[in-house]
Amino acid sequence: MFRHLALCCLFSFTLTIYSAAELRAAELTAGVAKVDITDMQAGPVNDRSYVRALVISDGTTTAAIVTVDAVAIGEIGRIDNEYLGKVRGEVEKTLGISPANVMINASHCHSVVRTDVDELTVQAISQAAAKMVPVQVGVGVGHEDRIMENRRLQLADGRQIDVRHAYSLPPDEAVAAVGPIDPQIGVLRVDTTEGDTLAIVYNFACHPIQGVPGGANTADMTGYASDVIEQNMSDGTVALFVQGCAGDINPIDYKDVDHPRHAQTLGNLLGLSTLQAARKIETSPDATLRVVNETLPLPRADLAQRIIEMEAEREKLVNSLTGTSLNLKTFLPLVVKYRLSEEFPSYYSHRYLHDKSLGRSDLRHLDIENRKNMARYIDNIHTMEQITRVNTNIRLLRKHQADLVDGGKRMIDVELVGLRVGDFVLTTFPGELTVQIGKNIKQASPHEHTFVAGYTNGYIYYAPTADQLRNVGNAQEDSDCVLAPAWQAIYEAKAAQILSKL
Ligand SMILES: [Zn+2]
Repeated sequence: MFRHLALCCLFSFTLTIYSAAELRAAELTAGVAKVDITDMQAGPVNDRSYVRALVISDGTTTAAIVTVDAVAIGEIGRIDNEYLGKVRGEVEKTLGISPANVMINASHCHSVVRTDVDELTVQAISQAAAKMVPVQVGVGVGHEDRIMENRRLQLADGRQIDVRHAYSLPPDEAVAAVGPIDPQIGVLRVDTTEGDTLAIVYNFACHPIQGVPGGANTADMTGYASDVIEQNMSDGTVALFVQGCAGDINPIDYKDVDHPRHAQTLGNLLGLSTLQAARKIETSPDATLRVVNETLPLPRADLAQRIIEMEAEREKLVNSLTGTSLNLKTFLPLVVKYRLSEEFPSYYSHRYLHDKSLGRSDLRHLDIENRKNMARYIDNIHTMEQITRVNTNIRLLRKHQADLVDGGKRMIDVELVGLRVGDFVLTTFPGELTVQIGKNIKQASPHEHTFVAGYTNGYIYYAPTADQLRNVGNAQEDSDCVLAPAWQAIYEAKAAQILSKL
């Protein structure tokens, strides 16, 4: 009720401040471009990586939506911490677009891009700005739930761990539950007034890290998805993938060791599902274009105590390794034999019967001894697997703790953007938001078509929920994180405020 009231007030307010002539002049124009950013010198290339730009204007406000096939905007990978400032400075100087209105999202694929990616990004934005035409816009929602899974596993002992290549997974019986996914694809369609599609902006949450057989350079599943969309809309359509809250979302079958993993299979599905939604969208000359850009200080975590605890935990695990007569060479054949024939594993059955007829049980004793040693050996392996996870996580905690100490600041500033184009509403965050946070923000939003992008305008590593942060040291999202648990409530409140301004 209040929501409707607020919208009505906003609408009448808009009518009162614009004259009829100004209203007519408030027409949307837009241009798109894409530029290849693949580093061809860095090794074998499977498919190209691009920077894509959509410049959109209502005559008063101009915004640039830029997507990069790269791991992050700063901190990790080829894009350095100066990139965002350099691109924005140049774009402001040459095109007059306000830095606050230049939004750059990294798909988070692990491709290797050229070191002059800053200049190439400016090129893409300039090319888009140079060919702006009157446009109509529309919003739609697609659905895809076949290509991803939540990678955080809830263990029976209360801890959570991640499906990662850096971790061995725990024994199957230790896994009690899995987390949520967000199957929603948010789609903005931008058409020329002649009806040709200029741009498809689509938002979805999944780490694009499936790779291709042989490990060649790839823009991964979202690169393939964009290709599918671009090949199947109008000539020259540019499909801009905006990564969502993918912090704890992985490609499905990420740790498959029986079939070659290929990003194209997943990317094709995402592309087709996006197309299905995009084709249904009717565009209209709704000229609403709003950008809100705010900076929010968030509390940093002090990880010193947790590092001490984890070192103690590692010490305990190391000390729990017990002696066993077996080594890998003797253990593996025994596993096969004892699985193949539980009753007579060590020799043919007649030998056991022969023993029995003479009142002896030598083979039975041998089996008891072997089984005891195998159980110990397996326990040791599980403990060693745990140590690999603890080692990986201690390294992450130490890195972020060193940054905290070096920086000397207990707060970290993040840039948040709210963008509205017609009924398409997007809000951004410069880190790897986990999927529940995106779902919370969507649910609390006054706008029907609200989408959330992480990995935008900077990179501050993972941003898990306060609940997930009770698990620090066990999974990547909570260990590769600089935030204290209080951050979530502060951020979600701010995001709601930004959305209310759109
Ligand atoms: Zn990630």
